[in-house]
Amino acid sequence: MSNSPVIAQECPDCGAQLDLTEAEEVGDLVDCPNCGAAFELVALQPFTLAPFVDEEK
Ligand SMILES: [Zn+2]
Repeated sequence: MSNSPVIAQECPDCGAQLDLTEAEEVGDLVDCPNCGAAFELVALQPFTLAPFVDEEK
């Protein structure tokens, strides 16, 4: 039994494994620890990440 199930999810950019749990909520931002890309969690069923683009450049 695990009290914090990990959701296996790969970074869409570099393929690194992201450490996500069921505590994540829609709208949360997830940072990839490998490439630094940011993603917004847009759905839980199924678990869906969308690229979070900062267009202030
Ligand atoms: Zn990445």
